[in-house]
Amino acid sequence: MNIALLCIGDELLKGSTINTNLAFLGSRLLEIGIYPELSLEIRDRKEDIRTALDYAFSRTDTVLVSGGLGPTADDLTKEGVAEWFGVPMIRRPEAEQAIRNYWKNRHSGCAPVHWIRQAEIPEGAEILPNGFGSAPGIHLERGGKSVFLLPGPPLELQPMFERSVLPRLKEHLDNPVQTALFRIVGVGESEIEDLLEPHLNPEISAAYCASPGMVKLFLTTRNRKELERCTDAVGSLFRENVLPPGITSLPQDVLRLLAERRLFLATAESCTGGLIAGQLTAVPGSSETFLGGVVSYANELKMRFLGVSQKTLETEGAVSRKCAQEMVEGIAAKTGADAAISVTGIAGPGGGSAEKPVGLVYIGVKLHARTTLLECHFQGGRTQIRERMATKALHLLRSMLMESAE
Ligand code: ATP
Repeated sequence: MNIALLCIGDELLKGSTINTNLAFLGSRLLEIGIYPELSLEIRDRKEDIRTALDYAFSRTDTVLVSGGLGPTADDLTKEGVAEWFGVPMIRRPEAEQAIRNYWKNRHSGCAPVHWIRQAEIPEGAEILPNGFGSAPGIHLERGGKSVFLLPGPPLELQPMFERSVLPRLKEHLDNPVQTALFRIVGVGESEIEDLLEPHLNPEISAAYCASPGMVKLFLTTRNRKELERCTDAVGSLFRENVLPPGITSLPQDVLRLLAERRLFLATAESCTGGLIAGQLTAVPGSSETFLGGVVSYANELKMRFLGVSQKTLETEGAVSRKCAQEMVEGIAAKTGADAAISVTGIAGPGGGSAEKPVGLVYIGVKLHARTTLLECHFQGGRTQIRERMATKALHLLRSMLMESAE
């Protein structure tokens, strides 16, 4: 089975909506061993839908479509698909009933005509129930070509994909593909690729998906023995860098390691402005381990809340190794935390100098009595630099926690 993704919506091309459906569908498909052949993003226009289907079906036999199933006049996906398959639209009583019930549970009076229009389905199609919205999903299969139409809102698309699409795709997987997913932190995508390359062969392939602070590595094969062999290779190449099963992010793993050791953490952030605290508190249950932090942007606050000395600020500056040290020691002393992180640097785009350029950061990590200080230089825009600073700090704490356990 070959799959194409087709995301429909003017807003995707205008840039006002980020195509997270593509990211979701691509990564979920990869997890079951399907590497989509291609993806297209097009406007809400019937002729564009037909042309996109011409191309998608010239390369694949299954197309997953998102968007344009709703009640408004610009929702033309179903009509475009029905025209391509040469089938009429038919009002389906079961879909109409579901739409009327959906309306009744949320509004007074009867559902308007344009809402009921959502019950018109291409003839011969199967309805995929929508538990979170009014527009039904659709599955149409003809002449060896299969199309799934899913609603645009991710909160509707994702559960429909899991419940109604994934099981059908799995049925069609001949000689099922075996996959393994590894989340690797602290090693870049190209380094992973270089180190893994000698362990791959035509029977087993690797795909990489980099996000801030982590690379997801997917191994795909039809041969279980190959999967086991390559999994062992990943284990020995990246032993400490692979997150354990069930842990999906670097902050979550840091919190896990702290909790296992019954340690508390506090943060003192300057240029990252609370990014690290935000990433930690985004993990459910973080309150058991994370005490809190200070966002000490101004020198005044660095002195008042963290005990950074005026002399350090005057002689070495706020962006200095000494300041990072006093910040991390200050937050640990003030909160009584066993572990602490400090970050002070220049995120840009302004504020840099020849001596202290944009991207320079000093990171302090304290674990019990031991303080480690790092000077790093990051490239990129403000957002990227701040993300990299936060990742580096969390990664340093993670390494120190792992070392302390050895
Ligand atoms: P609705 O019933 O809301 O009209 P729909 O299936 O017609 O649903 P669209 O109208 O295409 O879907 O999109 C509705 C909203 O869903 C968009 O405004 C956008 O916020 C979100 N959305 C659509 N496509 C995507 C996408 N590819 N990625 C992320 N969000 C999307």
